[in-house]
Amino acid sequence: NGLTNANKQLQKKTEDLEQYSKELEDVNKELDSFAFTASHDLKGSLRGISTFSQFLLEDYSNKIDDTGKDYLKRIVAGINRMQNLIDDLLALSGVSRMKQPFEIIDSGKLVKEAIKWFELTVEERKVKIEVDDDLPFIYCVPAKMKEVFYNIISNAIKYNDKPDPLIEIGVIAGLNRNTVGQREPVFFIKDNGIGIKSEYFDKIFMVFRRLHRPEEYGGGTGVGLAIVKKIIDDHKGKIWVESEVGKGTKFLFSIPSGGKA
Ligand code: ADP
Repeated sequence: NGLTNANKQLQKKTEDLEQYSKELEDVNKELDSFAFTASHDLKGSLRGISTFSQFLLEDYSNKIDDTGKDYLKRIVAGINRMQNLIDDLLALSGVSRMKQPFEIIDSGKLVKEAIKWFELTVEERKVKIEVDDDLPFIYCVPAKMKEVFYNIISNAIKYNDKPDPLIEIGVIAGLNRNTVGQREPVFFIKDNGIGIKSEYFDKIFMVFRRLHRPEEYGGGTGVGLAIVKKIIDDHKGKIWVESEVGKGTKFLFSIPSGGKA
């Protein structure tokens, strides 16, 4: 009858979706391993170029005039930048390639550990970081989730022009409902920095996507948020941003508890 037919159709659609999702996963894996191999080989060649440029600068410096030396220095600067880009590509490809176990862990502990890396900067730039006391336990790959907090906090400090930078970290309980109707905590990291125009809310998560010139705001390769997004995707979570130019930015994300937290 009609109902069985509808059921059959639904089942077929579910199977198609599962197949599609598996294919996507395979393609992603292939891309990751391609990025890994390509980056590795590029790094090797680059090392050669770097070494011989240094030899020229050091051993032939009395044979090259100032303009020539200036060109060589620019080549070396370009090589350094490319090395950073490749290192970040390797890190990005490593996110999903390296399988690590999920654990139930105190997210407050992860945040504290991430903040520890910024102790010096916090002191020098008089940054204030306020963290909610009662952050929840979450089901995640701890090292990866720590990297999520690390990258977002690092940006919150970097893209801040205020004399008294303030970063607030906490959760909005029960904002999100997952597919089975459970409420999931939504983490937020809020800063009072330069803000982001709404037309860039999606673009900032793309690889090598930066909104500034290389020399501005301490530089960067534009991979940090792509890594963050990939980690959240691997946790089957969601991440998004709210922001007002000149006032500040709030990154929000949630990950499913896996029914275990
Ligand atoms: P990077 O910092 O290396 O440029 P990211 O992927 O971490 O790369 O960030 C991408 C871009 O998003 C940055 O270049 C910056 O323009 C913007 N951005 C990220 N975080 C913030 C923030 N908290 N406030 C303002 N802009 C930000």
